[in-house]
Amino acid sequence: MTRVWRKADHEAPVARSGGAPDNADRIVFLGTGGARHVIAKQLRATGGMLFRVAGSNVLVDPGPGSLLRLLTYVPELAPEKIDAIILTHKHIDHSADVNVYLDIITRGGLDRRGILMAPQDAFGENGVIYSYLLGFLEKTIVLKEDLVSKIGEMTFEFPVQHEHRVETYGFRLSCANCTVSYITDTKFFGGLIPAYKADIVIMNLIKLGPSEIDHLSVDDCAEIITGMKPKVAIITHFGMSMIRTGPWNVARQLKERTGVTVLAAEDGKSYTIEKLLSYG
Ligand SMILES: [Zn+2]
Repeated sequence: MTRVWRKADHEAPVARSGGAPDNADRIVFLGTGGARHVIAKQLRATGGMLFRVAGSNVLVDPGPGSLLRLLTYVPELAPEKIDAIILTHKHIDHSADVNVYLDIITRGGLDRRGILMAPQDAFGENGVIYSYLLGFLEKTIVLKEDLVSKIGEMTFEFPVQHEHRVETYGFRLSCANCTVSYITDTKFFGGLIPAYKADIVIMNLIKLGPSEIDHLSVDDCAEIITGMKPKVAIITHFGMSMIRTGPWNVARQLKERTGVTVLAAEDGKSYTIEKLLSYG
């Protein structure tokens, strides 16, 4: 029997924010799910994030199904046009599709192009990146604490190594008119707040309460927002407890606690930088 693939309601791509022009700087969520059960059932997509800023396209943490999500949610962007890929760490929900993208952006080695940034343990025998693809790239950058690197007009800083089960770094991105931080998977520690101070802060919030597997809790996110006072915060990377509670409910509670607008990311949602800054 032929099975017809239909998008569930929660997977429907969301229209571009506010009718902004296609070339407006933006962040697109290709997935907002994390944790094993959510990945296995694709209750939320696990495609990572796409930063489209000043004409450059930077893909972050392409987890399982990322390529399909990119083609679905950002049909105007040919995947060959991705300029750089950042892996914050090698866990499968952040890295599963990286190799297929590396093949696409280099046309299987016909074009020497593209930048890959990843921690040392993502490479080599116990890593997740096929070594034969590395020679096709224009540049490979091994992440380490305090690294600063430019991609087009964007400057990425990797200010601190996270406390997670594998080598992990988030980033602080500076562009012409704003700063954006991405605090990927980590256990909470006080150093996160000064390291990631920015106008817009994106945080992975997999679970409501404290986690034995080194993730932020709702209380941790509240502490970060209070300490950092961004113009807006976005939560993403939801596991089952977050999905059952409703990420929008958690976002509203965080806003009430901190006084800062907190958005719950949705699959396919595109936020223009201009709109995000307007919350401040
Ligand atoms: Zn992880």
